[in-house]
Amino acid sequence: PGKNVLIVYAHQEPKSMNGSLKNIAVDVLQKQGCSIIISDLYSMNFNAAATRNDITGELCNPQHFRYGTETMEAFKKGVLCEDILKEQEKVKVADLIIFQFPLYWYSFPAIMKGWIDRVFVQGFAFDFPGCYDTGLLKDKLALLSFTTGGTEEMFSKDGMSGDIRYVLWPMQHGIMHFCGFKVLAPQITYAPEYVGDEKRKNMLLLWARRLEAIWDERPIECTPPWYFQ
Ligand code: FAD
Ligand code: ZN
Repeated sequence: PGKNVLIVYAHQEPKSMNGSLKNIAVDVLQKQGCSIIISDLYSMNFNAAATRNDITGELCNPQHFRYGTETMEAFKKGVLCEDILKEQEKVKVADLIIFQFPLYWYSFPAIMKGWIDRVFVQGFAFDFPGCYDTGLLKDKLALLSFTTGGTEEMFSKDGMSGDIRYVLWPMQHGIMHFCGFKVLAPQITYAPEYVGDEKRKNMLLLWARRLEAIWDERPIECTPPWYFQ
């Protein structure tokens, strides 16, 4: 109620399972009176590449380009390029960011990884000190909602893909927690292509049910034991 939610969404096809999961989140959260902003990365043709063009002013060291240093300085001077600034404004007002995506190579799709690379700039999202529990986005929640090709059995400790939590470690701990986010449990929709329509409808329903009580949830204990014990 009265909360701001940013949905960072990466799927090319509106009729996909990811598209449906995104739409359901919008429906449920809107009904609660939340304000929702969607960054639909493929529709925006979001630029994923971290390059010199992300800094519009003079570079600190044009002889030896360092993306991290230059973007940190550009952020302080307010000379990051427009598309990054826009996304940072959306992040700033968000209480919760939902990342909705299909798992690509045990990770985010490149367009979403690029969004992270370019938007979570030092000085804006983290600093030294100012990472993990003191990360600069520490008053916000992050939730990864993704679909997989593999089944839940494959992503178990003894399954051939290994525990899904190993996959979550870099994404939830290395990125979200590093930037200070409190991490809500992931929403994993396993193998939607390989289950029937009934099962898919049920998966969507489960997501809707969860979102109805999302503001009562406690974040996970995002430390190594959660992932590796
Ligand atoms: P879709 O095929 O779009 O949807 C599945 C089905 O859901 C469709 O039949 C659709 O019609 C149906 N549907 C949509 N909306 C509804 C609705 N409202 N009600 C009922 N049915 C609906 N997988 C892994 O496990 N690990 C990997 O490392 C991995 N790497 C990949 C790398 C690449 C480059 C690619 C392309 C894929 C990879 N995959 C991997 C597989 C990928 O994660 C899955 O293909 C993807 O998650 C499936 O989700 P989708 O939304 O694209 O499915
Ligand atoms: Zn953590």
